[in-house]
Amino acid sequence: MLKKYAEVVLKIGLNLQKGQRLFIRAPIDARDFVETITDIAYDLGAYDVYVKWSDEVLTKIKLKKASDDALKEVPEWEIKASEDLLNKKAALLSITGGDPDILKDVPPNKIGIAAKARNLAMKDISKRIMSNEISWCVAAYPTEKWAKKVFGTDNSKEKLFEYILKSSRIEGDPVENWKEHISNLQRITNFLNKMQFDFLHYEGPGTDLKVGLPKNHVWISGAQDNSDGITFVPNIPTEEIFTAPHKDQINGIVKNSLPLAYAGNIIDNFTLEFKDGKIVNYKAETGEDVLKTILETDEGAKSLGEVALVPVDSPIYQMKTIFYNTLFDENAASHFAFGRAYSSCIKNGEKLSEEELKAAGLNVSITHVDFMIGNEQMKVTGYKNGEKIVIMENGKWII
Ligand code: ZN
Ligand code: ZN
Repeated sequence: MLKKYAEVVLKIGLNLQKGQRLFIRAPIDARDFVETITDIAYDLGAYDVYVKWSDEVLTKIKLKKASDDALKEVPEWEIKASEDLLNKKAALLSITGGDPDILKDVPPNKIGIAAKARNLAMKDISKRIMSNEISWCVAAYPTEKWAKKVFGTDNSKEKLFEYILKSSRIEGDPVENWKEHISNLQRITNFLNKMQFDFLHYEGPGTDLKVGLPKNHVWISGAQDNSDGITFVPNIPTEEIFTAPHKDQINGIVKNSLPLAYAGNIIDNFTLEFKDGKIVNYKAETGEDVLKTILETDEGAKSLGEVALVPVDSPIYQMKTIFYNTLFDENAASHFAFGRAYSSCIKNGEKLSEEELKAAGLNVSITHVDFMIGNEQMKVTGYKNGEKIVIMENGKWII
């Protein structure tokens, strides 16, 4: 199963090409998976495989004990390394997974300082990756502590791995499963792109929100093309179809439907009130101070940069499991994101400057944090020139 999973990551996720470099960012707990991936990558013709290990315990110690100045410092060589690999068109694989509670007793402002410095230092690199200059993919690997958080019991790493494999469609012929899944997503994506709705109206318990969509917005799902025209799948698993909202045309109230796990903290039962694209009021029963930290990152953090639709009949939603990991939780339900929009969500967006993107209605920020709002009661209606079409009813596609 590990081999099949690694194959999907390399063949579907990154679509690794012969002679290409592979750059893997992975936690030390994912060593087995990284070894399998490296082995298969060379068989597929990789030129070289580089691995950058991370250790969540060391990260935590640093956040607790290092000075603010040290937290603000991002080594020049680290930025250079990423730039070099980007220039060489390496494929980038990030492996996620780890203890969702690892940073629980670290003061949120410390996490904020470090995250802000890193986001700022890596701004150009993130921009190049997010505009799909190279193929990139995020996939997960289970750890014992993560499994304990999800299921509440010890020794459940195997069970979590089963859930990861199931949601990643690793059964039967996984490569074939993925081809079919991608084409299903594409059908709806094409419909939404053809409709070019002026705005979407979301209705559900605690939610009544109108979200404007910019002119020439582009809905994206599953597979994307990099700057060399190579098709890749940035997230495994992936269920979402997403675009960018118009940053000045969001009005009403929205309530989250699943907890938001952010930097080891949980934010839950929160309501956001928008006026002309900005959050003017918010409250959270759990983690309000963490929510505040996110919203105060910069101006753009108080608006939205992503509108994503996921039906409640998706395998992850059906598992009725909170993974405390955005890769899974965001693919469980329809969601939005605070902060930065993807430039590829507007026609020719990759070629636009920050000012031009803003003028087109795309949100600019150094952060991007997804939060889930979809559930079985949600209705989504698209409006075009005063005409309306219901696209989701009871949380499911009806188109
Ligand atoms: Zn998303
Ligand atoms: Zn997102």
